[in-house]
Amino acid sequence: MNRRSFIQKSALTFGALTMAQQKILSALFTKGSTAAPPPWMFHMMTDKVGVFTERGGTIAFLLDDKGLVVVDSQFPDTAPHLISELKKKTDKPIKYLINTHHHGDHTAGNIAFKGLVKHVVAHENSKKNQKRVAKNNKNLDKQLLPDRTYSEDWQAYVGDESIAMHYFGPAHTDGDSFIHFENTNIVHTGDLMFNRRHPFVDRSAGANIKNWIKVLHKATKRFDSNTTYIFGHAAEGYNIVGKADDLKKFSDYLEAVLRFTEGEIRAGKTKEGFLKTTSFPGQGEWKGDGIVRPLTAAWDELMAK
Ligand SMILES: [Zn+2]
Ligand SMILES: [Zn+2]
Repeated sequence: MNRRSFIQKSALTFGALTMAQQKILSALFTKGSTAAPPPWMFHMMTDKVGVFTERGGTIAFLLDDKGLVVVDSQFPDTAPHLISELKKKTDKPIKYLINTHHHGDHTAGNIAFKGLVKHVVAHENSKKNQKRVAKNNKNLDKQLLPDRTYSEDWQAYVGDESIAMHYFGPAHTDGDSFIHFENTNIVHTGDLMFNRRHPFVDRSAGANIKNWIKVLHKATKRFDSNTTYIFGHAAEGYNIVGKADDLKKFSDYLEAVLRFTEGEIRAGKTKEGFLKTTSFPGQGEWKGDGIVRPLTAAWDELMAK
């Protein structure tokens, strides 16, 4: 394995490269007098399905002789990097741009696909959320909204590949899809999976932790033990791809969040005191920044009952 492919393989373990990591990579290559690698990672997982990471949620794509499919779009300044990499591989048209959900780190880059993509597809609630948030932020003109939506399941064929979307109910938001490349058996989970990283739980867009646990169980039942999953985000040093066991561990973590929070409420803790928590039993490998995000959401969810 040469150094470039080693570094690119290692880069797969980062949700996105930090500026510091990019500098280190560039320095390594400058010293070795090889051209510096770009600040993004474009990696083929099979001969047809690959991933792209730079900043924001992981992007997946399908390259087929009959056309391309892209899942999520990051930001307006990173999406063109993906598009240029895709163009190096093929001149086939992009048939579908699919959004896993509405958050800006997954859809703000849609606009870079304007005029390049036939259809933008998302769950109906994802479209509603994207529109609502854009109206509030007064940047509706900077969005490329889905022109196709669905409520429970959606399916399309591109060449030999069958692409299915599934909605299992509110979780990270109220509009999260699993996107299944059925023949290659690879599923993009969007932000339904935060691998070893404390999740963002968007209650303003209908998120629900209790149901999120059910959604993850439904996924492992629906897909099989050979399924490979692509995660929206991973903690530094952890992989953006994984297996059903990773989904199980994340659902165990979410259960632990609710169990701990319920106990603290019963014990008469104030919200302020509770939010000073730095660790809780059952959090497993979910460590580092951002513990306050799931704790706040769990507290509000349980108190809203
Ligand atoms: Zn995200
Ligand atoms: Zn998200």
